[in-house]
Amino acid sequence: MISAALAPDQILRELLVSPQVRACFQFFETQAAEITEEHIAICSIPAPPFGESERAAYLCEKFRALGLSEAKVDEEGNCVALRRGRSFSPLLVVSAHLDTVFPAGTDFTVRREQNRLLAPGIADDGCGLAALIAILRALEECSIETEGSLLFVGTVGEEGEGNLRGVRYLLTEGEWAGRIDSFISFDGPGIDRITNAALGSRRYRVRLRGTGGHSWGDFGAANPVHALGRAIARLSTYPAPTNPRTTFNVGRIEGGASVNVIPREALIDVDMRSEAAEELQRLDAFFRRAVREAVDDENSQRRANLYGHPCHHARHRRHIRQLAHAGRMVRPARARDGTEKGAACDAGCCKAKVKGKRQKEGGNPFY
Ligand SMILES: [Zn+2]
Repeated sequence: MISAALAPDQILRELLVSPQVRACFQFFETQAAEITEEHIAICSIPAPPFGESERAAYLCEKFRALGLSEAKVDEEGNCVALRRGRSFSPLLVVSAHLDTVFPAGTDFTVRREQNRLLAPGIADDGCGLAALIAILRALEECSIETEGSLLFVGTVGEEGEGNLRGVRYLLTEGEWAGRIDSFISFDGPGIDRITNAALGSRRYRVRLRGTGGHSWGDFGAANPVHALGRAIARLSTYPAPTNPRTTFNVGRIEGGASVNVIPREALIDVDMRSEAAEELQRLDAFFRRAVREAVDDENSQRRANLYGHPCHHARHRRHIRQLAHAGRMVRPARARDGTEKGAACDAGCCKAKVKGKRQKEGGNPFY
């Protein structure tokens, strides 16, 4: 047993000369081929976002076979297994994420090319999951007893819109919330980098709606794509500091139906991150204001369409007015009180007539 009161480098020195730890290192070398086979097996099970259950069940089965009889899938879909130490605490989570970024329907078959394995998610986070199983095997086979306990977890929803739902649940709800002392996550290939600081992030989907319309006929109506363009332009001017590192990204933009249609709806997905909470807060406030102002700007630019459809030339307008007036003379609309309805031949009236005719003929090059 190594005293926790020692300095970190002393603990490390003592660990490195421990026969059991040396046996563990040996284990990873002698079992390399088996670990690789396990890596292939787990990556062959599809695990698209929100579709991790089959992989979670497989991992649970592995944990049980290696002696963690209480392994189970929690309410969020995480695979969780406790390896008890001499005492329950401190409790260390050892985790990797089950999901991949690749959508349902992706071919997850693993191919070998010489010493390389190729498959969607083979590194991120197939490596981490293979590591969880290998570490548990090493601990068991080398009879390593720990002071505190280890909680092995394969988490769901780490990627993209999963938005860390598995880890959130683990830490804030369910059986283990409030009982975890420390957390190690294996994510991706390599052992050359350790991330030891938290990074704050906020993600938004901004969806704007308008009345829609025709690019010519309804020009002047508020346009959701234009409004989002204004918001993006504003956001891109944000002076993000390099220290603390702060970033933003409009990662997706969607909306509209056709080149000559004013969209009814458009959306953007935005990701913002910072090493410092106050910087993230500042960026967040800037972004929200940018969207508000962009929407206000777009709305303030709205104007009534005084042109109607393509026949706005003076000569045609005169003819249309004459037609409208003639119609009124022949068949005036009468309200119940006897006064004329719709007597004024305004631009709207002309527009309606021209529009009807053009649509019927179907030959308008502007559509
Ligand atoms: Zn990852």
